[in-house]
Amino acid sequence: DGGKRTDEIHRLDQATIERIAAGEVVERPASAVKELVENSLDADASRVRVVVEAGGTDGIRVTDDGRGMTAEAVERAVEKHTTSKIADIDDLEAGVGSLGFRGEALAAIGAVSRLTIRTKARGTSRGTELRMAGGEIESVEPAGCPEGTTVEVEDLFYNVPARRKYLKQDATEFTHVNRVTTGYALSNPDVALALEHDGREVFSTTGQGSLEATILSVYGRDVAEAMILVEAHADSESDGADGGNDEERDTDGPLDELSGVVSHPETTRASPEYCSVFVNGRYVSATAVRDAIVEAYGGQLAPDRYPFTVLFLSLPADTIDVNVHPRKREIRFADEADVREQVRTAVEDALMREGVVRSGAPRG
Ligand code: ADP
Ligand code: MG
Repeated sequence: DGGKRTDEIHRLDQATIERIAAGEVVERPASAVKELVENSLDADASRVRVVVEAGGTDGIRVTDDGRGMTAEAVERAVEKHTTSKIADIDDLEAGVGSLGFRGEALAAIGAVSRLTIRTKARGTSRGTELRMAGGEIESVEPAGCPEGTTVEVEDLFYNVPARRKYLKQDATEFTHVNRVTTGYALSNPDVALALEHDGREVFSTTGQGSLEATILSVYGRDVAEAMILVEAHADSESDGADGGNDEERDTDGPLDELSGVVSHPETTRASPEYCSVFVNGRYVSATAVRDAIVEAYGGQLAPDRYPFTVLFLSLPADTIDVNVHPRKREIRFADEADVREQVRTAVEDALMREGVVRSGAPRG
C-alpha cells in the first residue's frame, strides 16, 4: 500500500523525527547493551551485570554498583543531549576520558522502548524509580534500592515496527550482545562483569584485575592456555635519565604502547570476531589492526581462520578519530600504515619469541 505518502513536501512531526534519530543510535539490542554498560563503567562501577531475554529482543537489564543518580539527575539524564561528561566541543577536542559523551543514549533508548531506571546516588538515603515509554516520562517515584543503577529496557522498538521487523533471530542478536559484553569484560579486568541470557549465566569475571583470569572466565581454559603475551612500550622518554634505549624497533611509530595477548596459531576460530582490539580503552573495530595481526602469523594460520587476540593500543588522542558515528565501531587512525606496521612487528616478535613463527617478512 502507498501509506500516507503525498507529493507535497511536509515537515515530519516531532515524534517521528525523534524515533528516526533514536534508531540511528540504537540499532539492535546489542547497541543498547553497549550504551548501558558504558554508562555503568563511566559511573565507576566495580560490578556490572547484564541480563538479556531472547537475545535482548524481549528484555535487557543492566545493573551496576556505580555512583548512581539523584532524582533530579535521572530526570535530566533521559532528556536529549544531556550529559555530565563534557561541557563543550573543546573537551571533545582535548580527548574524552569517558566512554560516553554525546548525551543521547538514554534518551534514544527511552524513545524506542519501555524504560525503567532504578537508581540511588552514593551517600544518599533515598532511591528513585523513573519509568518512560516511547520517549515520554510516565512516572518518577521514590524507591528503595541499593546504591547504583539498574536500567531495564523492555519491548525494544515496540513503537518502530519497521525496525522491530529487521531484528534477526534471537541467537544472532545474542551473538552481538555477547561480543559487546565480552569486549568490555576483557578491557576492564578490574570490573566484575557478568552476562546472563535466558536465565543461564554465560560468563562472569572476577574483577580481580588480571587479563589472564578474565580470558579464562570469558573464553575458557583451552583458549586461556594458548595465549602468548605481546608487549611493546614507547622508548622515547624526552627527559628520562636513561635515553639510550631507542633501539627497540617495535616501538618506533605512532603507538605509545601496545600490550595484550594473541593465541597460538592452532587455537583459532572461523570468524574474526575473537580478534578484540581496544584503542585508548575503547573497544573498537579496526580492520587495519586485524589485518596486521593476521599478517604477523606469516601463513601459520589455516585459511579463513583467525586467532583469539586481546590487544590494547594507546596512542595520542589527536591521532585517532573517536568522534565517529556512535553506531560504528570502526576507528580511524591518522597514520594507519604506521600503526599497522607497529602492530605486525610487535605480534610477530611475540610469536617468534615463542618459536611459533620462524622468521618474519622483511621489515621496512
Ligand atoms: P552520555 O553517556 O553520553 O553522557 P547518556 O544518555 O548515556 O549520555 O547518559 C546521560 C547521563 O546520565 C550521563 O552523562 C550520566 O550522568 C547519567 N547516567 C547514565 N547512566 C548512568 C549510570 N549507570 N550510573 C550513573 N549515572 C548514569
Ligand atoms: Mg552513555
